[in-house]
Amino acid sequence: MYGAVVCPRCRKGFAVDLERRTSSCPHCGRRIQVRRMKTHFTSESASLTAQAVRELNRRGRRLKVDQGPRERVLPMSPSRIETLVQDLGEFDQDELEAALGGRTAMEAEEILRRVLQMGLVYEVSPGRYRKA
Ligand SMILES: [Zn+2]
Repeated sequence: MYGAVVCPRCRKGFAVDLERRTSSCPHCGRRIQVRRMKTHFTSESASLTAQAVRELNRRGRRLKVDQGPRERVLPMSPSRIETLVQDLGEFDQDELEAALGGRTAMEAEEILRRVLQMGLVYEVSPGRYRKA
C-alpha cells in the first residue's frame, strides 16, 4: 500500500510505502515516521500514488485528491445542497465533506455556512448540524 503525504518541513508531497516505518522526503531529505503522516491518498498502485503526488504538488496542500475515477462533481445548486442536507439528517463537517465526495474541506465549510444562512440546518451542539 502506498500513500501520498506532505513533508512537514518543506511542504512538498511525496509517495511513501505505508508498510515501512520510516521514509525520507526526496525534496529535502527530512526523515519521517510513516505512521504519523496524514495520507492524502492511498492506493495499491505506485503509479496512481505518484500521480496523486504530482497533483498535490501542483495544486498545493488544500487539495483533496480523488481516489480513482469518479463522475465529475457538478456545481452545488441550492436544491442539490438541500437534498444533500435532507439525506444527511444530522452531520458534522467531516461527514458533509465525505458526502460531497472529493470536494475540498474549504468547499464543505462554504456550503455549511450557506445552509446555516439559508436556515436549512441549525447547530445542535458545537460542530454538529441537523436539518431544520
Ligand atoms: Zn521535505
